[in-house]
Amino acid sequence: MKDNITRMAVCPRCGRTYCERPALSRVDNETLICPDCGTREALESIGVSAEEQDSIIETIHRSTHNPR
Ligand SMILES: [Zn+2]
Repeated sequence: MKDNITRMAVCPRCGRTYCERPALSRVDNETLICPDCGTREALESIGVSAEEQDSIIETIHRSTHNPR
């Protein structure tokens, strides 16, 4: 049997409660944010628009969602 330890955290960037592995914010290099915001910051840093960030994150969610 495996212990299923789920650590919940609240992302300071978007306020979402998440239990995935946190990402380190690029803004100050010490704040832990949710994986989505980590992706957003990475995309933002290479000049991707907010609209495009959304569609990329949506694509990531779709591909990480376990297909049956
Ligand atoms: Zn977030």
